[in-house]
Amino acid sequence: MRVVLVGPPGAGKGTQAKVVCQRFGVPQLSTGDMLRAAKAAGTLDPQLVAAMSQGALVPDDVVVGLIDRRVDAADCAGGFLLDGFPRTVPQAEALGALLTRRGARLDAVVQLDVPRSLLTERLIHRRADKKTGQIYHLQYNPPPPDAELEHRTDDQPAAVGHRLDTYEAMTAALLPYYQGLGLLRRVDGVGTPDEVTARMLAALA
Ligand code: ADP
Ligand code: ADP
Repeated sequence: MRVVLVGPPGAGKGTQAKVVCQRFGVPQLSTGDMLRAAKAAGTLDPQLVAAMSQGALVPDDVVVGLIDRRVDAADCAGGFLLDGFPRTVPQAEALGALLTRRGARLDAVVQLDVPRSLLTERLIHRRADKKTGQIYHLQYNPPPPDAELEHRTDDQPAAVGHRLDTYEAMTAALLPYYQGLGLLRRVDGVGTPDEVTARMLAALA
């Protein structure tokens, strides 16, 4: 199973990816997580750190390079779920090319659809546990008292609007691209996390 999960910031990609990946026994490849890990390790170019904090995208070749190296790892042999990549048509074309070179191709692109009016609220109150990576929401999915909470710099109100604008501008071309390839499956992302998981599994069946 080689699947791409597309959706605006705050749609629930990370939340759903964790459940779906466990169910199918495939790794979750999140370019956002990879970039944040590089930032935490001090190995990410300061210009890219600044771009991320402001909610801007990093250059296509950076994320394509990350994925190109990652898909050869042993745990990707049975497939993977891409979370947050590709985000642009050039990234999608590069992904197609790097899979073709390996004699592989995508099975589906799942679009997690959530109206913008709900996203700001989800993002501003998002917190993650530094130790476990578990994603919480201060109201909808409150963290346990012993969690070591992290508030992403790009989840501050100033960056959130910019990220949502960027997503809308980018996917205006990305979704029709995958629609044209016959890969796109739309999933309604409004509802409880369990309801959305059930829809995701149905879309992938
Ligand atoms: P993404 O990876 O798409 O940016 P996340 O999975 O990190 O999204 O979710 C964003 C925020 O919304 C988190 O605080 C998460 O707990 C919350 N969330 C996720 N799914 C739902 C849902 N179905 N209903 C309400 N809140 C949700
Ligand atoms: P979100 O929860 O907003 O969907 P991610 O964790 O996927 O965010 O990404 C966080 C940040 O990392 C993005 O705002 C962007 O700066 C960078 N990033 C992640 N994936 C990509 C990508 N495919 N192309 C360009 N930039 C990316």
